[in-house]
Amino acid sequence: MSLLSHPPDSLGTQVFEELESEVRTYCRRFPAVFARASGHLMWDDTGRAYVDFMSGAGALNYGHNHPGIVAAVADYLRAEGPVHALDLHTTAKARFLRRFSEVVLEPLGLRYRLHFTGPTGANAIEAAFKTARRVTGRTDIVAFTGGFHGLSLGALAASATALKRGAAGVPLTHVTRMPYDGYLGEGVDTVDHLVKMIDDPGSGVDLPAAFVVESVQGEGGLAAASPQWLRRLAAVAGERQIPLILDEIQTGCGRTGEFFGFTEAGVVPDLVCLSKSLSGLGLPMSLLLVRPELDLLGPGEHSGTFRGNNLAFVAATAALDLWAEPGFRAAVRRTAGELRAGLTGLAARWRHLGCTVRGRGLILGLSFAEERLPGRVSSAAFRRGLLVETSGARGQTLKIMPPILIGDDGLRQGLDLLHEAISTVSEGGDHD
Ligand SMILES: *Cc1c(COP(=O)(O)O)cnc(C)c1O
Repeated sequence: MSLLSHPPDSLGTQVFEELESEVRTYCRRFPAVFARASGHLMWDDTGRAYVDFMSGAGALNYGHNHPGIVAAVADYLRAEGPVHALDLHTTAKARFLRRFSEVVLEPLGLRYRLHFTGPTGANAIEAAFKTARRVTGRTDIVAFTGGFHGLSLGALAASATALKRGAAGVPLTHVTRMPYDGYLGEGVDTVDHLVKMIDDPGSGVDLPAAFVVESVQGEGGLAAASPQWLRRLAAVAGERQIPLILDEIQTGCGRTGEFFGFTEAGVVPDLVCLSKSLSGLGLPMSLLLVRPELDLLGPGEHSGTFRGNNLAFVAATAALDLWAEPGFRAAVRRTAGELRAGLTGLAARWRHLGCTVRGRGLILGLSFAEERLPGRVSSAAFRRGLLVETSGARGQTLKIMPPILIGDDGLRQGLDLLHEAISTVSEGGDHD
């Protein structure tokens, strides 16, 4: 098969089928062998170009190989800066800490300590749960329907997708599930349900150690919490001394149009998890922001070998420099407006298929009445040179996440390809 579908100069996909584990996933829908990437484009090893509306599931908000970030990393390597140093003090870490405080925290009047966790998002979630449990002496975490927080056991217990939960092999415990905003239909404020359950001594729900929530559910079908809902949730948490954890792993670093997804609601979380686009280059790096009063884990209590990825610190500092440039934020917000306008146009065109736009900022989704349609559109888009994935427990939403810096041309190119893919699939063409 790989001989037929790839020219002779291509490596083909045979080596992956032969040697890589069955657990591999994205590469099944997008079976190209990628060799180069720049900005919003990727090229396979035959030279074919793809517009990237996937952005590494939110790890590539600034696009592939942003020149400023690449230059900073190359300079650091050339100067023999330490790449790995456990959590020793390094100049790279010092610069990142200072820059993060200046560019992200101070303008918003936020005060947090920075806990560098292991390099995955799941590890930042584990650290947040440990911290909240230490602070409160309580065990159960309230997580929401549709939530996704990673796949290590603690984080998996808080994640909602049946497929992922089913792989745990042990009971997933110490999480109480509550309905996310909109889960019970329009006009139902699900915070009412939550308050009743945690305040009523006859509900059977213990006072939780934390609430963990995403401002937009990147894996949960692009459901977005309204600012009012988040504000109410934060107030409920504050009144009952329940730490509020914002999982900003996918919504953070500009995805919603601001650096944090919670800024629009004006809430101040007790703990904030960041990862994916933090390094700006796709290098692994995660961070837990901790309100100083809650910084109660002692030295070494949440340790890990790769908490000092100095290349990621250098890259992340260069990415923060972008945020300090005049006009950067306005450009991101403008791109978000263009993307929403483009998708609103597509939704109007396919209104008869029940097409609606979901999400916020540059983390948007297109849902259809026919739940299998997005998967088919994703495959049809790939054949036309567009990478766009699906989201939701049943893959029922197309997830549209171009780089936040994508220019008008790239955006137009991607939206045109998306339009073609939906047209073909809705007319019954392009079967897998
Ligand atoms: C990706 C993601 C995680 C998990 O991050 P990993 O690096 O895959 O462990 C957690 N929460 C959200 C919202 C995510 O999008």
